[in-house]
Amino acid sequence: MNLPTICIVGRPNVGKSTLFNKLVGKKISIIEDTPGVTRDRIYGEVTYQGKKFNLIDTGGLDIAKELFNDEIKTQVEIGVLEADKIIFVVDAKEGLTANDLEVKELLKKSGKEVIVAINKVDSNSANNHIYDFYELGFSNFIEVSGEHNIGIADLLDEIIEGFKKEEKEAENVCESIAS
Ligand code: GDP
Ligand code: MG
Repeated sequence: MNLPTICIVGRPNVGKSTLFNKLVGKKISIIEDTPGVTRDRIYGEVTYQGKKFNLIDTGGLDIAKELFNDEIKTQVEIGVLEADKIIFVVDAKEGLTANDLEVKELLKKSGKEVIVAINKVDSNSANNHIYDFYELGFSNFIEVSGEHNIGIADLLDEIIEGFKKEEKEAENVCESIAS
């Protein structure tokens, strides 16, 4: 069965892997202070309120500085190809950066549904930056902290919005056979 796929994208060090691990519930992705540590794309399966989906951490494409822009592009392109919805993670501790704007351009072109996760809202400097992200022009923003478990349920609610429950799908199949 094809599960809906959600892809986490964003520039290095915004907290993608931390958020991925929080959502999947197991520490299976590598987290480091240095950007570029996670090597591969990592897949996890999440069940929330009876709805199942695949989650992808594309952080494996955070590589060398000189390749930065290309790597971000590749990462987002993969996300756009594979995902039904995209979680675009930004960093409230640092604020909006030029690389966030590059990611934004690619996502806008794709026409895919984007949830902007404004991460690290636990940080002292976060309040100064949160409203900058509204400039990105997406309609769906959620303030989260992957590390401090803030806003995770809100993010999950938004992810599964519009997804069918698996039991429901099975019922529908039975009904259509019966009729
Ligand atoms: P990635 O490169 O986007 O995958 O980011 P990581 O998940 O590896 O995190 C990068 C750094 O940000 C690490 O030092 C994390 O401890 C830190 N970090 C991640 N999430 C949060 C958060 O919610 N709040 C704060 N203050 N720091 C975070
Ligand atoms: Mg990572």
